[in-house]
Amino acid sequence: MPVKKDYYEILGVSRNASQKEIEEAYRRLAVQYHPDRVPPEKKNEAREKFKEISEAYAVLSDPNKRRQYDMYGHAGIDSAYTPEDIFSGVDFSSIFRDIGFGRDIFEDLFDFFGVRQQPRGPQRGADIEIPLTITLEEAFKGVEKNLSFYHTVTCPVCKGSGAKPGTAKKVCPKCKGAGYVQHSRGFFSFTETCPRCKGKREIVELPCERCYGHGKVKEHENIVVKIPAGVDNGTSIRVKGKGEAGTEGGSPGDLYVVIRIEPHPVFVRQGDDLVCKVEVPYPIVVLGGEIEVPTIDGSKIQMTVPPGTQPNKVFRLKNKGMPDLHTGRRGDLYVEIIIQVPTKLNERQKNALRDYGKTLGLNI
Ligand SMILES: [Zn+2]
Ligand SMILES: [Zn+2]
Repeated sequence: MPVKKDYYEILGVSRNASQKEIEEAYRRLAVQYHPDRVPPEKKNEAREKFKEISEAYAVLSDPNKRRQYDMYGHAGIDSAYTPEDIFSGVDFSSIFRDIGFGRDIFEDLFDFFGVRQQPRGPQRGADIEIPLTITLEEAFKGVEKNLSFYHTVTCPVCKGSGAKPGTAKKVCPKCKGAGYVQHSRGFFSFTETCPRCKGKREIVELPCERCYGHGKVKEHENIVVKIPAGVDNGTSIRVKGKGEAGTEGGSPGDLYVVIRIEPHPVFVRQGDDLVCKVEVPYPIVVLGGEIEVPTIDGSKIQMTVPPGTQPNKVFRLKNKGMPDLHTGRRGDLYVEIIIQVPTKLNERQKNALRDYGKTLGLNI
């Protein structure tokens, strides 16, 4: 294990440095080692350094963690705090803002430690996915479908605050508004997200009677979704704002309708092309002739089969496939010839075939 450097040394301050001196030292070093302000070949080194000074600052700027460190050194910190705990309650954002750092460095810092800050403020609601099965014909033409589903919406009674109308939120009495609490085990004290307010720093005094303080309620909704022509398996259609409700004024998520297309008895789809098999009587493949081919729009078209067409020969009918979802341009229809072998023949037909066989010298 690499030997960890002394936190005071890292920040270049004395062991009895004041909180102000510690913060000033950190600001100075943060500017110096911001990974975006060093030449590219020094970036990784700067990131490491930035991580080091930020951890030192997180510990020394917190009186409890600093005391712990002063008494037991790195072992005291490592055994008492998870990386998340080390950073909880440290307000980097205002320092970063003061020295003109963007939000990315802040997130980068927490990525270093695998730590996610307790999210605060408005948050967008989650997206919802709903599968929808349609027929190939519907995918060809486009269709409108009624969709019925449940999602959460901002509580109409408390407008999302979770507090009973007329009552207010108050500072969480358990953590006194810190969002986290400390408790001791033996020599060490631990920090964790406040179990009462879940890190939100505030609690609802009297919960809203409609949503029981959640700020959201589940609601049944019916909507009509327009499915455009050309959708394929897995196409997802976004319905804006029909996902789950946001929190603290955040916008709602979106609803994604994910298309599944039923297997078709006649056509197999390959991208924008369609493939079908057509049974053709034996005399037609031999002598040539006209056949009828089904198409996805329901009509039948005439196709000429040339004399001597072999089994499984594929013909292409241009622009008779599916429309492209974006351009509307149609793919092609591929028609595979299957030769019909008759199973029930009357005597006249049998004799005709025998006569033909005899001309080939067959003994039938
Ligand atoms: Zn409510
Ligand atoms: Zn609390």
